[in-house]
Amino acid sequence: MAEFLGGWRRTMRCAEVTEQDLGRELTLMGWVQRARDMGGIVFVWLRDRSGIIQVVFDANKLDQETYHLGEVLRGEYVLAVRGELAPRSPEAVNENLYTGRWELMVKEAKILNRAQTPPIYIEDGKNENEAVRLKYRYLDLRRPSMQQMLQLRSRTVDTIRRHMASEGFIEVETPILTKSTPEGARDFLVPSRLHPGDFYALPQSPQIYKQLLMVGGVDRYFQIARCFRDEDSRADRQPEFSQLDLEMSFVEPGDVQHVVEGAFADVFQGIKGIDIPLPLKRMTWHDALETYGSDKPDTRFGLEIKTVTGWAEGCGFSVFESAAREGHIVCGLTATGGARFSRKEMDTLAEFAKGYHVKGLAWMVRQEDGSLRSSFAKFLSEEKLAELEELMLIKPGDAAFFIADSRLTALTALGQLRNRLGEQLGLIDHNRFDLLWITEFPLLEWKEEEGRYTAAHHPFTMPMEEDYQWLETDPGRVRAKAYDLVLNGIEMGSGSIRIHARDLQEKMFSLLGFTQEEARERFGFLLDAFEFGTPPHGGFAFGIDRLIMKLMDAESLRDVLAFPKAQNASCLMMETPAPVSDDQLKMLHIAVDTGERL
Ligand code: ASP
Repeated sequence: MAEFLGGWRRTMRCAEVTEQDLGRELTLMGWVQRARDMGGIVFVWLRDRSGIIQVVFDANKLDQETYHLGEVLRGEYVLAVRGELAPRSPEAVNENLYTGRWELMVKEAKILNRAQTPPIYIEDGKNENEAVRLKYRYLDLRRPSMQQMLQLRSRTVDTIRRHMASEGFIEVETPILTKSTPEGARDFLVPSRLHPGDFYALPQSPQIYKQLLMVGGVDRYFQIARCFRDEDSRADRQPEFSQLDLEMSFVEPGDVQHVVEGAFADVFQGIKGIDIPLPLKRMTWHDALETYGSDKPDTRFGLEIKTVTGWAEGCGFSVFESAAREGHIVCGLTATGGARFSRKEMDTLAEFAKGYHVKGLAWMVRQEDGSLRSSFAKFLSEEKLAELEELMLIKPGDAAFFIADSRLTALTALGQLRNRLGEQLGLIDHNRFDLLWITEFPLLEWKEEEGRYTAAHHPFTMPMEEDYQWLETDPGRVRAKAYDLVLNGIEMGSGSIRIHARDLQEKMFSLLGFTQEEARERFGFLLDAFEFGTPPHGGFAFGIDRLIMKLMDAESLRDVLAFPKAQNASCLMMETPAPVSDDQLKMLHIAVDTGERL
């Protein structure tokens, strides 16, 4: 039988006791981590979210009934105890426990609830099976690391809110039942009972609402926004996630970046005690690609890429020569200390590079003793080889890798190789947090399969004024006022200055292949709003979950959410998604095809 509190009030949490509490009578409540019955004395570890304290049932000091409560305790029983905080004898001190110098000598006790043996260990580092952990998430959450995560998360969000308030932002909630916004993923749909055959979409982001808030004169908006994207289950995605979403009026990219980097700096200072020097570095998309082969470069290490197409002309190696002739590029990077790679390791690296759609990887090694190993150097004259080594700053002990292909393909593959080499050569300082802005992204991306352009960020992004001239003639060349925040090679968030003029927005829709009718049907309200004095505006959004992951060095998003979905987007605890009753379906005017799944 469960007991009630019966007027008892907890003095504090278990691990909130201090030296000052010695000799005081305390009432503590929590879960039994373990109970060791030594015959005549029972040592109990009592746990709550703050930690663990030892409480002692001593047969010599207790009436039989109270002592018996100590004897029957089992793991996860919910226990309330009253007693005096006493110092432990020196040999009994447990240095591993914050409270390890003290123990509570029980005078009275109540078993508030009993528990079956839990299906998982309520301890860190012991549970191998994630599916069981997720099924019993409410037990998993009792583990110290989960409690720390929830607390860290809460403090992070609190820090962000304070920062936003200090910058003059106001928090506005936007609807969850809404209409599709084009963030590039599939929508989750909610059928309408009152409007047969119609559906709401859950927001992929509050993008349009926040822009309309700017039209509404809100000036600076933010929200810790829940976003929903129905993506195929790729490693480490969640169908719903939280973003810090913000929008500002009368701004240029630098103003938005200033607010965002300030929030990051506050979080890193408050949570990790790390100073992030501001302003952050800014690098254009073009330079990031040329130097790091990526639009989210990991700048914790060098291995910078160099393009040597000019050198490749007439170099003697036909693969490089024809690339140069065909308007492709030859690019490479020098791996300091790479001479230690064996032939077999070189082959593995070449296979890795080919996984990124390049035809091959050429390599050369200048050994410490001055001798040369290479997959292609035999085709080069002495002079050309010396030129290349000088261009690439190759020294004895180094290896260099080269790719010849179309520009984006070659740079991207080399960028991936760079990341791998950085890891393999131990060049990455895992305690470092390198944040930077990547700016001036292309406005559009050509989708080969669809034979059309799509928006690189989203259709509301403003082109750079300097590039308007290309909008009609060479749209692929137009850069956008768009920027990403990158941390250690991971994109933390994106934003842009938005279009605020109807004609430009209409042009953008038409570049993206919308007919006028389609544009009107989907975004008519936005186009209309542009007729009523829309201020220039821009914003940003970043994933809170991913930030927490970085702050905690967690391996998976599932480790930083209270109730995550499993990889197949289901909740193992509640067993969602789940069928609904025929009545419900009828009410929603929905017929489910229960036959073969399409
Ligand atoms: N709505 C965008 C996103 O969710 C961010 C932004 O442009 O503010 O990625």
